[in-house]
Amino acid sequence: MFDGNKVTRLNVPRWEAVFRAEIMPGVISMIAVHDITRGYALGGCRMVQYENESQAFTDVLRLSRGMTFKNAIADLPLGGGKSIIVCDPKVAGENREKVLEEFGKFVAWVNRDESVYYTAEDMNTSVADMHVVSRMTSNIFGTTVDPSPYTAWGVFSGIRYSVDFFAMDLFDGHRGLEGKSVLVQGLGKVGMTLIKHLSDAGAKVMISDIRDESIQRALAVVPNALVVPTEEIFQVDADVFAPCARGEVINKANVGDLKFKVVCGAANNQLQNTKIGKTLHARGIVYCPDYVANMGGVCSIQYIEIEKLSSEVTLQNIERTVRKMLGLTFRAGFRNNLTFSEAVDHVVKKIVWGKQPENLSFTNLNLFPLTSTSEPID
Ligand code: NAD
Repeated sequence: MFDGNKVTRLNVPRWEAVFRAEIMPGVISMIAVHDITRGYALGGCRMVQYENESQAFTDVLRLSRGMTFKNAIADLPLGGGKSIIVCDPKVAGENREKVLEEFGKFVAWVNRDESVYYTAEDMNTSVADMHVVSRMTSNIFGTTVDPSPYTAWGVFSGIRYSVDFFAMDLFDGHRGLEGKSVLVQGLGKVGMTLIKHLSDAGAKVMISDIRDESIQRALAVVPNALVVPTEEIFQVDADVFAPCARGEVINKANVGDLKFKVVCGAANNQLQNTKIGKTLHARGIVYCPDYVANMGGVCSIQYIEIEKLSSEVTLQNIERTVRKMLGLTFRAGFRNNLTFSEAVDHVVKKIVWGKQPENLSFTNLNLFPLTSTSEPID
């Protein structure tokens, strides 16, 4: 059972604090608090049966740093952290409750002097699980808001802004989504809401999902949507591609074939690696970094659950922030001759640590073929 005297504090340079505990015999948990410059760290708890502890350790570090970036680009007064429970995610019944309660004690222990880390649901943990964790700690968020509709609204705002920003370069000066084709991959909690916004804005909606029942539900929402078989999506000539299914969807096998003009979706880690990002950029395809496009979910936790703002104000805040951060990202990319996935990291570093972007160069501005002159004026 959890015992605060047996917690190990791991020394990791540049991380605020990283803790490891055996919360039950054979069940290891780790809590990584990456950065609290902007406020206490918020980041979910994953339950994964890692092959070994080193894999778990690497993952919790990587994910906690990612949360610092994600919360900062969302302009929230939050730092970044993450937690993991190393165990079979299929554990059920009383055993699951026990694991979650012991994890809750660990979270409470980490926050015993000062609140530095708040947890939430994440991969293989649910809102119901978090209610169990909350028996032992109040350092928990995301139990009362469904973030998906807000994530969808953020993606929609990102698509609309990018299309307008690059209207001159990519769409013969035509702004707005009326008549533009948008392919949405993945018709789950996010994709299903997104297609409705797109359809309402007059876009030609294309849909793809591995599950026929999702396609049927989507057709009930947008009856005139064009269904694209999953194996054909990379041959489609759509203006915008919105990946809302899974990661690494743009990879070595397809990056050379893509005919889209803009990529903007909810899935995390849409690009296989940095090199793929460079290839996409060099081909003149605008990539809206995933953690800008999908910020709506974490924003909803801050605005609705923490600040008690209305849904309407939350949607307005999300749209304003997505537009602002995409604008900063595109400009930083042009100014510093970076791909937009590289540029967004510079924007975050400036926001969190006040660091000026590195690699300042005014000599080679030709990597990206576009020179937007049509950015919208807010
Ligand atoms: P979901 O599980 O509800 O839906 C995913 C959908 O994608 C399912 O309908 C599934 O059948 C489909 N799918 C899976 N593989 C596919 C493939 N190869 N081709 C086509 N369709 C496929 O997930 P969600 O909550 O809608 O989230 C979508 C993505 O956005 C996920 O990657 C998620 O991690 C990310 N995300 C979601 C949120 C949120 O608030 N829900 C926030 C941030 C990021």
